[in-house]
Amino acid sequence: MIRIAVLGSTGSIGRSTLEVVARHPDRFQLVALTANRSVGTLGEQVRRFNVPVAVVADETAERPVSTAGVSWASGRSAVLDVAGRDDVDVVVNALVGAAGLEPTLRALSAGHRLALANKESLVAGGELVLRAARAGSADIVPIDSEHSAILQCLRGRDAASVHRIVLTASGGPFRGRNREDLERVQPSEALRHPTWDMGAKITIDSATLANKALEVVEARYLYDLDYDHIEAVVHPQSVIHSFVEFVDGSVLAQLGFPTMELPILYALSYPERVADRALRTFDPVEASPLTFEAVDHDAFPLFGLGVQAGRDGGASPAVFNAGNEVAVQAFLEGRIRFTEMADVVGEAMKRVGDHPVSSVQDVLDADAEARLVTSEAVDAR
Ligand code: MG
Repeated sequence: MIRIAVLGSTGSIGRSTLEVVARHPDRFQLVALTANRSVGTLGEQVRRFNVPVAVVADETAERPVSTAGVSWASGRSAVLDVAGRDDVDVVVNALVGAAGLEPTLRALSAGHRLALANKESLVAGGELVLRAARAGSADIVPIDSEHSAILQCLRGRDAASVHRIVLTASGGPFRGRNREDLERVQPSEALRHPTWDMGAKITIDSATLANKALEVVEARYLYDLDYDHIEAVVHPQSVIHSFVEFVDGSVLAQLGFPTMELPILYALSYPERVADRALRTFDPVEASPLTFEAVDHDAFPLFGLGVQAGRDGGASPAVFNAGNEVAVQAFLEGRIRFTEMADVVGEAMKRVGDHPVSSVQDVLDADAEARLVTSEAVDAR
């Protein structure tokens, strides 16, 4: 029995994780769930799965009435306690944004396998996260379709045999549009993703391609490749989840119709595979045609900015990430235009500049400064 804690159980990845667990009650057992403030949904989840521990990050949220017998706690430190619990084998981190960093570090330090959907924590705190994983002898298994694909292609192969990886990107709802077109697009259009059904933050990141930049940095840390050997290509059908090219020129890919339940199941059962026929069967004829395009850097400048932040190292990826979180929120609130997201993030990166990182506090400081500076850039528009 694999004992699982889910951080962020009421979001898109959290709910999909629970659906996977529901199909395999003989293998997976939920021991704790956390939510930000959706107490109603959290209450239903703990009842449905008989989960003994529930935590709400928001201290002002009220406990639902019908959760007798459930140990109920609130606050950020209670979320951290869940990540470090003794009775857990796998921590699913499905939190949104850099707020996931400390739970990521806590889970790894405790020696738990980290099933990581919160890529922002790895982007913001890359070296610290790897250090925590080494110290705790803990695995990080990505819940990200591209990185799950790479992991599956790399299994059992010598690291020295890998030449490069190519991450696929759907291109989002605005693929093929130019910069001028994009000045007038509305949040409601940006939230309509063509192939994936996800939360608001990642859906906007997919529309700007900031998500793909975060994934390049994520890949750099997960697979220890330098940036010259990590590329991205637009693949609108989202069927090929990524490519790995080996030194002899041979290329492996992992395929499937888009669903997050597959990478979730793989992260929970890794390195084993669990029989599961509930999902749509792959059919090459239905999947065809499969097409590819180069990334349009002019229309989607957040991609280049994010990769540059990764190359700059130190606190730069944390600054990019925090600025991007503020920019996405401001766009969703109608305070800046779609194209201004890249402008304010670029401004924040310039103003904050380079900082070395040797502690979590360094990352948190850079994150806080970037949020402040980006908010000022938003207000100035
Ligand atoms: Mg992805």
